[in-house]
Amino acid sequence: MNAPLSRPLVDRFGRTVSYLRISVTDRCDFRCVYCMAEEMSFLPKREVLSFEEIETIAAAFVARGTTKLRLTGGEPLVRRDIMDLVRTLGGHLGKGLDELTLTTNGSQLAKNAEALARAGVRRINVSLDTLDAERFAAITRRGRLADVLSGIEAARGAGLELKINMVAMAGVNEDEIEPMMAWAHGQGMGLTLIEGMPLGEVGIDRVDTYLPLRELHDKLTRRYTLTRIDKRTGGPARYVHVSETSGILGFITPMSHNFCESCNRVRLTATGQLFLCLGQEDQVNLRDALRDGGMEGLDAALDRAMLIKPKGHDFVIDRAQPQPTLGRHMSMTGG
Ligand code: SAM
Ligand code: SF4
Repeated sequence: MNAPLSRPLVDRFGRTVSYLRISVTDRCDFRCVYCMAEEMSFLPKREVLSFEEIETIAAAFVARGTTKLRLTGGEPLVRRDIMDLVRTLGGHLGKGLDELTLTTNGSQLAKNAEALARAGVRRINVSLDTLDAERFAAITRRGRLADVLSGIEAARGAGLELKINMVAMAGVNEDEIEPMMAWAHGQGMGLTLIEGMPLGEVGIDRVDTYLPLRELHDKLTRRYTLTRIDKRTGGPARYVHVSETSGILGFITPMSHNFCESCNRVRLTATGQLFLCLGQEDQVNLRDALRDGGMEGLDAALDRAMLIKPKGHDFVIDRAQPQPTLGRHMSMTGG
């Protein structure tokens, strides 16, 4: 039976917030060139929300109608004892919460896959930009492709449904889009392509590597039969079915297609800031609201948040504006 709903979270534009992404850590064992700088300074541990605080905030969201939680980061599986949090959050499944999922780089998946499945996780996203070991090492700066591939194997073995997320970059991995699609679809996994977003100072030139996915989509239609499908996962991707590979291909196109009008998401950082938009600064400090005002304070902060959720982002990738649109990295707001 569903938990009784108190006031649902509806913003000024009538959009209902039903999806919370939680960044459980800003740390990561990789340094992907589009996501982080080589040298990153991470948050002191004392500034990071405790599991108890994350659980309280997540429970407040579920009580107000959130049906989907996604754990992300940084790399969620590098946070110590992360499975304790996953198990507790899994306790909300069927009691207001429909889905608990995570986005991972896969490096620690081999040892966690079974436990994730036991905690009620059914689907996960694994980020993988290439199947070439050297290229993988160059893009992630620290990662080993073999670890991720064995993580993917373990996750499939545990019965998890997998989707591969690939940041498509001109001159970097553009030539692998079709092979990746054949590989992923051949194993029953979806593939979603993501346009690089201008978040934080990183290790690549975003103008040179920017690959407009709308053009790529049109190019693919010359070789493949793409049928638009109305698959909604609660996220921003648009999906097509590819007849030749019998699989699903997703496009996340924040730069060339503005998906804000249907946005149902908010993001909690590891320090308890609730960001109302991936591409804007509007935020509410839920950690202070909870610490100073308890559950009532938290509830009031959620109401305030609904009043300031912006209409949309203003991402630009442009030679005339070489600085990132936002100073913060994706690893802070969790992608
Ligand atoms: N570490 C986990 C991972 O890599 O899956 C979770 C966090 S990561 C920030 C979430 C997603 O954001 C990944 O799929 C990653 O490829 C993507 N990402 C990171 N920086 C990005 C950027 N500047 N533009 C587009 N996608 C980005
Ligand atoms: Fe880490 Fe994920 Fe960012 Fe890569 S994309 S550096 S794996 S947080």
